[in-house]
Amino acid sequence: MNAPQPATTKVTLPAGVLHEGDVIEEVLLREMGGDEERILGSKNPDMERIVNNCIMQVGPVADPATLRRDVIPNMRIGDYNTLILHLRRLSLGDEYAYQAKCPSCQRQDTYTVDLSSVDVVRMRDPGTDAQPYVLRSGAEAIFRPVLVKDRKMLEDIGEKGQDVLGKSLAMRLVSIDGAEPDPGKNANQRLKNAVKMLRQHVPSYGEREAIRKWFNTTETIVDDNDDEILVGVDASIDTVVEDRCSCGTGWKHRFAIDPSFMMPSSAG
Ligand SMILES: [Zn+2]
Repeated sequence: MNAPQPATTKVTLPAGVLHEGDVIEEVLLREMGGDEERILGSKNPDMERIVNNCIMQVGPVADPATLRRDVIPNMRIGDYNTLILHLRRLSLGDEYAYQAKCPSCQRQDTYTVDLSSVDVVRMRDPGTDAQPYVLRSGAEAIFRPVLVKDRKMLEDIGEKGQDVLGKSLAMRLVSIDGAEPDPGKNANQRLKNAVKMLRQHVPSYGEREAIRKWFNTTETIVDDNDDEILVGVDASIDTVVEDRCSCGTGWKHRFAIDPSFMMPSSAG
């Protein structure tokens, strides 16, 4: 008797990942299995390990080492969240339950969302997604979106308790008035140089906060083919749903895409 094969699904990434000059949009996912269950059941579940385990193929690339070293780290967070959404649906179905508290009467209740109805719209091409921001000084800074590889770097910085705010801003800096931070010998040196550059050009905390806010601003536009496109530096899937309490109060709720999202009875 053959062993049962895991279910698989093909996902089209909203933006796509740049690999060797091509934008790849197709990803083959398999459902979570015993290994992923074990990771989920551990003390600090590593979401990235779970997702990366289940990515079987990205475009023509099927070699696990190449996927983990060269392809997945360069994915946009929005694309990665889309994969997590599909992995959840493939492994546990479309119904997702979570707990929320009514802001009016404080009643805690369980709400459910049909994940097949979550909006996934196409995002800007990854080749053109770095966007300009005009600084108070009049200089033009270019910032890029957060990529999967940034998550690890941010975690490391956070664990060492170093300047998380400044570094997370600096790691996205592509250039200011056309000048790029000195690349140094490695990613850490480049980051240090980018931090220095930003300190010179953006000394104001208020202006730095304004830039961070701008990263999260999104809008939907319609392109030449009448397709809706999500525009914004960190454009991602829309996880905002509306909850309504039996007391009549309704409110907007953003459910988190974190390990709790992978549990069947989430208390999100
Ligand atoms: Zn209520």
